[in-house]
Amino acid sequence: MENKGLSDSSNSSTCRSGREKFLCRIDVDDGYIQLVDFMGKGDLAVVNAARVSFGKRKEVMDDSDIVLINYLAKHKHMSPFRHMQFTFLIHTSEVVCRQLYKHQVGCGFTSGEFREAATVWNEISGRYVEFGNEFHHVTKFRKQHPSNKQGSLPDSVIEDNPEALAIYQNSLKASYEAYEKLLKIGVCREQARLVLPVSFMNTLTMTASLEAVVNFIRLRDHEGAQWEIRKLARAMKELVTPICPVSLAALIGEQN
Ligand SMILES: Cc1cc2nc3c(=O)[nH]c(=O)nc-3n(C[C@H](O)[C@H](O)[C@H](O)COP(=O)(O)OP(=O)(O)OC[C@H]3O[C@@H](n4cnc5c(N)ncnc54)[C@H](O)[C@@H]3O)c2cc1C
Repeated sequence: MENKGLSDSSNSSTCRSGREKFLCRIDVDDGYIQLVDFMGKGDLAVVNAARVSFGKRKEVMDDSDIVLINYLAKHKHMSPFRHMQFTFLIHTSEVVCRQLYKHQVGCGFTSGEFREAATVWNEISGRYVEFGNEFHHVTKFRKQHPSNKQGSLPDSVIEDNPEALAIYQNSLKASYEAYEKLLKIGVCREQARLVLPVSFMNTLTMTASLEAVVNFIRLRDHEGAQWEIRKLARAMKELVTPICPVSLAALIGEQN
């Protein structure tokens, strides 16, 4: 059984007209990230949040608004950037999900106590549904980075790649067979899933403010981050940039 997440795959790379044209999906590695919704009129939402201080509101951006956004970013007046909110559907391995979960703006929001949390996510429940036989797909195993203790060499391939792939595939097969056998003999889903490795493909939805999205992109589209999450961060940037091009450029430092 294949679990391809919840996305309408026909949406892949297909942009429609109007507001809908921004709601696109980008395939990353063997998963995807899809912008499923957003709140706010892009850069104009940022501008209007800032201009309310003067009792002003604009319908169309002009050059003075670009100057304003750059000023806000440069001087770290961040609250106007929180009025844009994005909701993503993300289908990726549990390894990458665990890194995503660290982005929480200092709130223990998984407990539900912190309602002001700027990032919110929910994920598919292995207690409600049986997981499909879908795991992170590897074609080449990279070498350990010689100086970055966490990292790998992005363009490298280990010498014994076929052997490593065979070990990996056999391990996944054994894990999934064990999962199926446990379910078959009556073990509950919430315990049977304990045998699944962190390469299993998870699906989650994440809502984040523009500020939180930029924080994620800055930290994860970075040479120190794991290669797989870098691709996700780049795709997130690609989805958000057409909606808030001036803010993205100002916050990520391309115009400062
Ligand atoms: C390359 C890399 C390697 C990593 N390695 C590890 C690792 O080995 N182990 C591990 O556990 N994590 C690791 N992380 C995760 C990292 O420690 C952060 O938890 C993660 O990047 C989220 O960043 P953040 O704290 O900015 O995000 P958020 O929690 O979303 O916070 C956003 C921003 O809010 C502010 N903020 C958040 N909390 C507070 C607070 N309590 N007080 C004041 N201001 C606050 C800060 O300005 C922060 O940047 C790694 C991250 C990267 C990018």
